[in-house]
Amino acid sequence: MTESAVGGPSLPQGRRLVTAIPGPGSLERLDRKKAYVADGVGTTLPVFVVAAGGGVIVDVDGNSLIDLGSGIAVVSVGNAAPAVARNVHAQVEAFTHTCFMVTPYDGYVDVCVALADVTPGDHSKKSALFNSGAEAVENAVKIARVATGRDAVAVFDHAYHGRTNLTMAMTAKNMPYKNGFGPFAGEVYRAPMSYPLRDGLTGEQAAARAIDVLEKQVGAGNLSCIVIEPIQGEGGFVVPAKGFLPALAAWAKDNGVVFIADEIQTGFCRTGDWFASDDEGVVPDLVTTAKGIAGGLPLAAVTGRAELMDSVHVGGLGGTYGGNPVACAAALGALEEMRGGSLDARAREIGAIMASRLGELAAVHDVVADIRGRGAMMAIELCKPGTTEPDPVRTAAVAAYCHQQGVVVLTCGTWGNVFRFLPPLSISDALLEEAFEVVAEAFASTR
Ligand SMILES: *Cc1c(COP(=O)(O)O)cnc(C)c1O
Repeated sequence: MTESAVGGPSLPQGRRLVTAIPGPGSLERLDRKKAYVADGVGTTLPVFVVAAGGGVIVDVDGNSLIDLGSGIAVVSVGNAAPAVARNVHAQVEAFTHTCFMVTPYDGYVDVCVALADVTPGDHSKKSALFNSGAEAVENAVKIARVATGRDAVAVFDHAYHGRTNLTMAMTAKNMPYKNGFGPFAGEVYRAPMSYPLRDGLTGEQAAARAIDVLEKQVGAGNLSCIVIEPIQGEGGFVVPAKGFLPALAAWAKDNGVVFIADEIQTGFCRTGDWFASDDEGVVPDLVTTAKGIAGGLPLAAVTGRAELMDSVHVGGLGGTYGGNPVACAAALGALEEMRGGSLDARAREIGAIMASRLGELAAVHDVVADIRGRGAMMAIELCKPGTTEPDPVRTAAVAAYCHQQGVVVLTCGTWGNVFRFLPPLSISDALLEEAFEVVAEAFASTR
């Protein structure tokens, strides 16, 4: 098989800075963006990309940056991964769209077969495919409401579920996701999350606290579903204490509440397991997936218990582009890369390297209040030394330094004081080590 000359894994794997970041070519294009793209669409690191693959992103000025973001946990298999590129090429030449709801095709069903196989639990499962994570979350709630005949939806502090109207209501953080965009969908209730750094509770205690809120403020009999990220994404990579998720899942089961794991950011090998729910053996009733599913093409899914999925009337689920054949071909390629490359194991190796580098950092810089995450989904939270008072200013300074030095890092968290590290699983150890050298330098050079 010939590999692409312009991107993908054949791209030289090194950090190379030939101009300031952003360089003149990017600056010129930024002016054009400013003139024609709505200001509401921001950019984290405004270099314009011409190629990407392995663990690097190459810009129009010839700079090669190390990628610790994977386009927000999307290109876990790498950018332009060989099996993804091959499948996409073949599919676009065969046909690009028929609409699965009009005339179906194999790729859609093949993806549903694969999802039944890889998602948690060995019960009988079905799936429906969509275009974005938010759309998958909306549909999971639709299914839970029809299946239970109940309206209320439970979500958690720091949750992120998307930017559509219902998912904005489910998302916790006001700026930038919700401010001014209301009124929001009703019947969404927020419970306290397990956040070990800030609450000091065991998983069981934190679950009891959340369940008490749901029982007293909503009523179990009114709840259609609990929607939870097994490790929170945008909200700060908050990893609940052990026991929290199993206790919530058990309570949901006892009360006829559909337990929905939003694995849009955590799914597909990212955390060192195929899904983050696997870590404690939690088997959700429904799982929402997107991001890592298709190597960069837009695809999302709701997968779950066949009887729950089938509670919706024919025609009640779908959309013009949902399960587009090119996106499905990409997903099958991405799954081939994950299986062939044992990317769950690779995520654990990457996680071990990151944990060790972050441990060194925390030992020297007391602004690092917490190291958390699993596999290739790790984070550090920055607080004023000796406190849990968030330090978003230092976080921004460190991020800016990394960007200028050619390392793509992302921040997150309710207070904007968390670094999240999400390298593609195709990154080499050497490149990863080099990126963390730069991160260490960034901490040493800022205050
Ligand atoms: C990104 C994300 C979403 C929304 O996905 P989009 O594809 O951006 O709509 C929902 N839930 C979680 C956990 C996410 O990380």
